[in-house]
Amino acid sequence: MSWREYVRDVEPYVAGEQPKIVDLIKLNTNENPYGPSPLVRNVLEQYNEERLKYYPNSDGEELCKSIAQYYGIDQQQVFLGNGSDEVLALSFLTFFNGKKPILFPEITYSFYPVYCELYKIPFTTIPMQDDFLLSKEAFFKENNGIIFPNPNAPTGLLVDLQFIEEVVCYNKESLVIIDEAYIDFGGVSALPLLEKYENILIIQTFSKSRSLAGARLGFAMGSKEVIAKLYDVKNSFNSYPIDSISQTIGKVCMEDQNYFKECTNKIISSREYTCQELKKLGFIVPDSYANFVFVKHPDYSGKELYDYLRENKILVRHWNKEKISDYLRITIGTQTDMETMLECLKRKLL
Ligand SMILES: *Cc1c(COP(=O)(O)O)cnc(C)c1O
Repeated sequence: MSWREYVRDVEPYVAGEQPKIVDLIKLNTNENPYGPSPLVRNVLEQYNEERLKYYPNSDGEELCKSIAQYYGIDQQQVFLGNGSDEVLALSFLTFFNGKKPILFPEITYSFYPVYCELYKIPFTTIPMQDDFLLSKEAFFKENNGIIFPNPNAPTGLLVDLQFIEEVVCYNKESLVIIDEAYIDFGGVSALPLLEKYENILIIQTFSKSRSLAGARLGFAMGSKEVIAKLYDVKNSFNSYPIDSISQTIGKVCMEDQNYFKECTNKIISSREYTCQELKKLGFIVPDSYANFVFVKHPDYSGKELYDYLRENKILVRHWNKEKISDYLRITIGTQTDMETMLECLKRKLL
């Protein structure tokens, strides 16, 4: 007998690299190049370190209040986590306990199958054609839960509210989770559906559109009943997932709507520019509604272009995975970052 027999053996999610080299243009983990609201500096300067001797507010109530206000919902419809990855992990643990499989797209956020393995949740993936478009009918089959990002990652493709409503409506017995990590870059949130349906949970993050990946803040919005179940599980796992500094920073970022709009608009316009220029270089560029583009070139493998960019100190994301190994996922950085990246590609392709 050995502890090895009883260990929970899992194959972990692999996050994009955080390189130590400083002069790299980092376009590999969908961070926002503009940094958080300038109001964060005041908060940090005024932060009284004495507060650190106390536990933080266990539910981040002040921050929940700001989120609720921003979206016009009740504070009890908001749940905070240490990054949306934690919100996702707790949501899988809370809601996906059936014997039937949960459903998610074949090409999607690669953390989902990792949670399934960790918790031993059966799952079935929704097959996708070469264009990565999803068909809603694929979700019309037996399941004990559904999750997909909208826009999808890493494809950047968006489905409309009618698509989501039909999936939610057909699957009234299941909870449908919409992972809206990238919704602020031009998509339409499923939030209005909360008024009509109880079986929907929307998850968002401060990491991308609010440029706070380092603060680890994510949140879920749903009916009071659904959200209360999340709190019960969170309070059975870790009462204080969010430190008091992040709670305060998150609040000012949520409330600084002008800066938020300004940054997301800059990213959207650089994305449109990048898509156009990549098309001129012969790339196949699916429509992106996120802060990244997912592209391939007919004449070069994904690995070759990834390596070439890396040699030129530009880091993008590449997966050695069936169906997507010829694609690169390129985060939208500053306009200058994108121009540098495009110039570099031109030197190879033209
Ligand atoms: C980035 C991302 C997340 C997680 O973000 P956090 O930093 O943990 O908030 C969740 N879902 C998708 C699809 C993402 O791309």
